[in-house]
Amino acid sequence: MIRANNLSEIKLRGASLSGNDEFVFVECKFCSRQYLYNNETLILYKNAQDLSKTEFNVDEQPSSCLGCENPDWDFRELEGHEIDKVNNGEWHWAY
Ligand SMILES: [Zn+2]
Repeated sequence: MIRANNLSEIKLRGASLSGNDEFVFVECKFCSRQYLYNNETLILYKNAQDLSKTEFNVDEQPSSCLGCENPDWDFRELEGHEIDKVNNGEWHWAY
């Protein structure tokens, strides 16, 4: 897992923090599009510019992936050795 530790910027971009947050970088299993995910609140952030737009990831699938538009998609956490993906991705500012 790669944690996103720039909480001040995450908050600045519209996320509401619970005080017990664990933000991690995730990617679509099909097209590798990246998203930010909060492991504690189970909230998925799909818009790197506007984190007030959220999706709750419990039981139901989130809406279609923005990359591959697969309505039946899933995501996985990026691992430490994949840090290059984060650095080159649209969420790099959150690291
Ligand atoms: Zn996708």
